[in-house]
Amino acid sequence: MYRKFSANRIFDGFQWLRENQVLITDNNGKIEALTSIEKAGDDIEFLDGIILPGLVNAHVHLELSHMKNVISPNTGLVQFLMQVVSKRGSFSKDIVQEAIREADKEMWAQGIMAAGDICNTADTLAIKEKSSRIIWRNFIEVISLRDENLNTVFNNANALLRQFESADYQSAITAGNSIVPHAPYSVSKNGFLRLNQLTTGNTISIHNQECEAENDLFEYGTGDFLHLYKMLGYNKLPVEITHKTSLQSYLPDFDGNQNIILVHNTATGKKDVEFLIQYRKEKNITPWLCLCPNANLYIENKLPDIALMNSFSLPFVIGTDSYASNYRLSIGDEIATLAKHFPEIDLSIFLKAATSNGANAMGVEDRLGQFKAGYTPGIVLMKKDFSTQRIL
Ligand SMILES: [Zn+2]
Repeated sequence: MYRKFSANRIFDGFQWLRENQVLITDNNGKIEALTSIEKAGDDIEFLDGIILPGLVNAHVHLELSHMKNVISPNTGLVQFLMQVVSKRGSFSKDIVQEAIREADKEMWAQGIMAAGDICNTADTLAIKEKSSRIIWRNFIEVISLRDENLNTVFNNANALLRQFESADYQSAITAGNSIVPHAPYSVSKNGFLRLNQLTTGNTISIHNQECEAENDLFEYGTGDFLHLYKMLGYNKLPVEITHKTSLQSYLPDFDGNQNIILVHNTATGKKDVEFLIQYRKEKNITPWLCLCPNANLYIENKLPDIALMNSFSLPFVIGTDSYASNYRLSIGDEIATLAKHFPEIDLSIFLKAATSNGANAMGVEDRLGQFKAGYTPGIVLMKKDFSTQRIL
């Protein structure tokens, strides 16, 4: 049995198709063909909206799903981080597991096929093994500012990595696993150098330039992060003042052909973009700018300069971040915010970010992200209000 779908518009993962095209799949959603309405024959299901391949959520913290409505919005990043650290542990194991299960189901129902998930714990493993149909890329996150603890931190991260590597996933595959830095301000120089060695040729992720204070820290040794360090008991700065922005300070530590997902980029300026393009050329790294606009509005009430980044044709992917800083884990909601704040950017840029770019960044472009014969990429309907639902 075949299914035949048409809609107001069809986006194939890369571009809009011309009008009156029909997507033909088998009952499981395996793509058979894209053809014209004249050749498709009878029984075409017409959907009101845009048909898209399954979506990719390039940045989520599934293990923080129990933190919905726990942290107040617009506190700024440092206050936000202190609240996450102090509150994340005060929930029962059952509440944490139930929230993970619900968040996973919510993501799947909206058409998310693959996700890049930040893991500080093994809390999400049970759901990923037993019920999740999403293809996960697990980023085991390292926070390490004290070099005397470096070996312990990396031994723990390696043990967690092995758990995720040896898991028996319900989706039958993973997109991969790697150890990654949390953020420029939470990993020491030696930590970065060790991460570079561990991740040669692999895909990593980092929370990048999430606020201006992050640049102030590296450029001048000033700003909000000094409060955080004081609270954590540091007498002197645990990072080096480089007189450069955050991105320009740590990125040169990575020269192993990594695929790097730069998350947030709220305080990324023109000089950073130019530096990134030059560095990509010199070192053969592959950067992806991950946009999480709803989390940016929740935490900092500020958005990245997406028009600037787009003018340099840097590739975007899209993430929801976690329930600690978002009201939903919906790629459609993120695209709605992007379309509202950047009406001059063609919607196809954001749809590509959420489909083929996301699949590429996760390393699953050989099976997801586009309507290609033989693929089973998921079939998603996006309505006028940008909400999405899984059709297959
Ligand atoms: Zn995050």
